[in-house]
Amino acid sequence: MAEFILPSGNVIPQLGLGSWYMGEDPRSRQQEIDALRFGIEYGAKLIDCAEMYGEGEAERIAGEAMAGYRDRLYVVSKFYPHNASREGVIAACERSLTRLNTDHLDLYLLHWSGTVPFEETLEALYQLKTQGKIRDYGVSNLDIDELEDFCAADKVGLCATDQVLYNLSHREPEWAVKPFCDKRNMAMMAYCPLDQGALVHHPELITIAERHQATAAQIALAWLTRQKGVVAIPKSSSIARTKENLDSVKIVLTEEDIRELDKAFPAPVNEHEGRIAIR
Ligand code: NAP
Repeated sequence: MAEFILPSGNVIPQLGLGSWYMGEDPRSRQQEIDALRFGIEYGAKLIDCAEMYGEGEAERIAGEAMAGYRDRLYVVSKFYPHNASREGVIAACERSLTRLNTDHLDLYLLHWSGTVPFEETLEALYQLKTQGKIRDYGVSNLDIDELEDFCAADKVGLCATDQVLYNLSHREPEWAVKPFCDKRNMAMMAYCPLDQGALVHHPELITIAERHQATAAQIALAWLTRQKGVVAIPKSSSIARTKENLDSVKIVLTEEDIRELDKAFPAPVNEHEGRIAIR
């Protein structure tokens, strides 16, 4: 599985497991644990969580799924902007660590921008990093102006990522956010890599998938993870679809595939088209 070296020197895997919507229905709990656990045993190295998902329940589910496997995993979580004060970040991190049943997060993200000054949030993140409670820090859903402001406020200069909506149907980050991340050797995490399932029905993807004896979902994921520094985090509560998504690493897209994908899903051509969307 491809990996990427972050500004801190730590390494982030380029494909992982999402967890949004997990923990919301107690009747699906065991199925969600089983899907994540299968994914980990099948070779997934990254789990993406947030205190928001199921109001903490997704982190508990991830904690149960990764029991016994913590050492081989890269664990990401996120705090609410209303917890972005100096004390708020520290307390939110402690709660996430407890729910995930771990002593550290590999990456901790501001979920979206709020009213707390970035400088204050960063002070808390530096403290957590010094204490070994987080290995890296970053942001999510920041547009290019906000990302520039965050990185300008970051005296330590080790912002690891901006996690944004990025998939074949949403190529907006290619306009400014991706070039910014590339320049600073930051990863760009692609959330909703399957456009919440919509991409699996796209005729062009299905045509290309047939050439590879693959599925449309696998082509959509392979298109993301072939890009340097892009990390895809598809979510599935099904063992079969988790396996399918992880098997996307076996696909090597050809120049012809890329040309056809660029035609069917054009890249942004101006600032307006390059304005990032938020889900
Ligand atoms: P997604 O991964 O693009 O799509 C998930 C949906 O697609 C689910 O309904 C899933 O259903 C289905 N699916 C998964 N694999 C499939 C396959 N191989 N074939 C057909 N359908 C498939 O969307 P997402 O969950 O919204 O985004 C992924 C992760 O990114 C989230 O779970 C979360 O960790 C993160 N995220 C972050 C933010 C942020 O603000 N930072 C926002 C959104 C998401 P089943 O579960 O039934 O398989």
